Amino acid sequence: MVDIKWEELGFSYIKTPYRYISYWKDGAWDEGKLTEDNMIHINEGSTALHYGQEAFEGLKAYRTKEGGINLFRPEQNAKRLNRSAERMMMPEVPQDKFIDALKEVVLANEEYVPPYGTGATLYLRPFLIGVGPNIGVNPAPEYIFSIFCMPVGPYFKGGMAPTNFIVSEYDRAAPHGTGAAKVGGNYASSLLPGQEAHDRNFSDCIYLDPATHTKIEEVGSANFFAISKDNQFVTPTSPSILPSITKYSLLQLAEERFGMEAVEGDVYIDKLDDYVEAGACGTAAVISPIAGIQNGDNFHVFYSETEVGPVTKKLYDELVGIQYGDVEAPAGWIEKVK
Ligand SMILES: *Cc1c(COP(=O)(O)O)cnc(C)c1O
Repeated sequence: MVDIKWEELGFSYIKTPYRYISYWKDGAWDEGKLTEDNMIHINEGSTALHYGQEAFEGLKAYRTKEGGINLFRPEQNAKRLNRSAERMMMPEVPQDKFIDALKEVVLANEEYVPPYGTGATLYLRPFLIGVGPNIGVNPAPEYIFSIFCMPVGPYFKGGMAPTNFIVSEYDRAAPHGTGAAKVGGNYASSLLPGQEAHDRNFSDCIYLDPATHTKIEEVGSANFFAISKDNQFVTPTSPSILPSITKYSLLQLAEERFGMEAVEGDVYIDKLDDYVEAGACGTAAVISPIAGIQNGDNFHVFYSETEVGPVTKKLYDELVGIQYGDVEAPAGWIEKVK
């Protein structure tokens, strides 16, 4: 066994033995293969380096109580990668190739899939980059699709805890830009707003809709949800939000399992009193309860600054239970690696 203190893991790079890499050239993907080499040797003119022609994904492998390994809705990641690829003028990665490669990477690095009960998971990072000789602003002549992985710790060491967020003056994405694509450019431009939020002791920033700055769009690199006074699960809708698979899963669970009304609509920043709980959701964040939101001089507290609201808690338990195989999953949500 590898010598890792699973309970102490954070979210940082660890070199695992194997990653998958496949090359696209002259209109076709090669077979792809596992490699031990964690360095990529690419042309200096690669579009990924200069013009941000790239897209990525993030998902986790979960160790079950019985020692199996689950992936959570990986076909949704395949579909989203291909939507990002289309927007960035990159070739599609066939869904079967994507899922087979994920499984290959997980199994090859099986020792690094954290044991059940530690709260840790194996994080998988698929990415697609434009490479090859180029200098003009054009789609690349060649592409690389790769997946690497590493064990990551539970998002909340010592239990789920609400934290504070601050409304950013910056926009994450333009009204008709690339907000809905999972691409590096959105992240490069979010580094400064994120740093400014951290400098003021907030967990991250809240981005408002770029056209009117009146509605909540995203919470850093996670989606936003809130529970209304009349027990609705509400999450913003906008073409510049990144469509979170966790968010769509929660919308469905709220409705089907908890009898809530699931609403994709507008969440106005000056109407936060309508909501009794709020949170951020995503693969990395899982569900992160939001204690309060600072908007200019106004600080709005939702449920409590120290305690997790009951609806947030039950949604978290249901989602995580499904991912680890402890709670029955809706049909097709779990892809068994073993
Ligand atoms: C990846 C991502 C999310 C979360 O999506 P999941 O599919 O739930 O992991 C949310 N917002 C942004 C900006 C993202 O890049």
